[in-house]
Amino acid sequence: MRLLRRALQWGALALAVLIPVSGLFRIDPAAATFVVLDRQIWFADFFIVAGFWVALSSVLVMTYSMVGAAFCGWVCPQNTFSEWANRITKRLLGKRAEVSLSGEETLRVSSGKKSWLNWLALGLLFLGAALLLALIPLLYFYPPTAIWSFITFRHDVRLAPSLHWIYTVFALIILVDIAVVRHFFCRFMCIYRVWQHSFKTTHTLHIAYDAARGERCATCNYCLTVCPVDIDPRNTSVYDSCINCGACISACDSLQYKKGEPGLLSFEFGERRLSRLAGQALAAGGRIKSNLGTLVGRFSWSLPFALIGAAMFVWGMAGYQPYHLTVYRADTNQGAAIRDYRIALANKLYRPALLKVNVQGLPEGSYTLSADQAGFISVGRQDINLHISALPRGLYPFVVSMESEQGARVDYRTQHVVTGS
Ligand code: SF4
Ligand code: SF4
Repeated sequence: MRLLRRALQWGALALAVLIPVSGLFRIDPAAATFVVLDRQIWFADFFIVAGFWVALSSVLVMTYSMVGAAFCGWVCPQNTFSEWANRITKRLLGKRAEVSLSGEETLRVSSGKKSWLNWLALGLLFLGAALLLALIPLLYFYPPTAIWSFITFRHDVRLAPSLHWIYTVFALIILVDIAVVRHFFCRFMCIYRVWQHSFKTTHTLHIAYDAARGERCATCNYCLTVCPVDIDPRNTSVYDSCINCGACISACDSLQYKKGEPGLLSFEFGERRLSRLAGQALAAGGRIKSNLGTLVGRFSWSLPFALIGAAMFVWGMAGYQPYHLTVYRADTNQGAAIRDYRIALANKLYRPALLKVNVQGLPEGSYTLSADQAGFISVGRQDINLHISALPRGLYPFVVSMESEQGARVDYRTQHVVTGS
């Protein structure tokens, strides 16, 4: 289980890098929009935005309800790097070394490891990790080519002038976090953990203790020493700090397997009252089955929301409009009559586009366009001016059409009103 957890923790970190690098999701700070698969997602793309959040929040609620704060134990980078920092510290400064905010002793180093070389190696490792990790948030705001320019100190117009300062602040925060804060943040400062705990119930995944074999614990406290949140795994409760990391289970298993017996701790769903009885059942050679049924029953309201959200998202992506067209009254010196209109074109794709514009419904020769097409090298907006000459009093409905080279077409209907003679 320890190996599986490590694989999931580092896999989650790799995913956090792959998501923006692959273009699956990032944020375009210049346009203040989300970007999914190289498409700008505007708030006007209602089905995509609403569907995504409805599906995500429903799935998260189901996850919290089923496995509690397991995200912290199996996925969260804060825990991953706190554990990594603990392992490196023990390797360089001794098994009992403690340099983080543990809540008790502030600094403890094995006498045989008190060497400035060890401290230097530890500092350099933490600094290197902080410098690398601070790049990950930037990947969500800039394409990989821009980040490469940033790393190699090349001028790139896509990068914000203050990015070096922002990066330095990120790196410093991460350095302090992995050097001294570590699990102190998880225990006393993490709001997200508290949020996850608020969805826990008596049926949520928890640690079951085989009390029938409790005499094995008389001279042992191994599970307590490995618990990152400093609780007693033999006596967990619904709203305690347990993050279901399973470190205590692995620890106890590693001791008991040497004696040819299963560990005294295990994961279990279902009523905690049952988990107490699990010990007796285990002693009798049986195991109480995981009680997933009650959890599934509670999904009856959240699962439909998750499915509706996913359907909205897929529907939105399938009907995605890569180009946007709006027609406004132009902000020019109009006088008594409005004769100028601004045709606002937008390319929402991060690739070149040529958009042709034409007007239908107005009398022949009564209007002029400042251009009949707009070329884009990437995402962006351009305006074309439409001027309508003097027309007799009346209402003139007309349509502005925009068509891409690939045949995607957008129409905008509006009307020109002439009140004077
Ligand atoms: S590691 Fe196992 S045997 Fe040791 S105290 Fe914990 S539950 Fe008991
Ligand atoms: S009790 Fe066990 S599963 Fe819970 S946080 Fe501690 S070590 Fe992890």
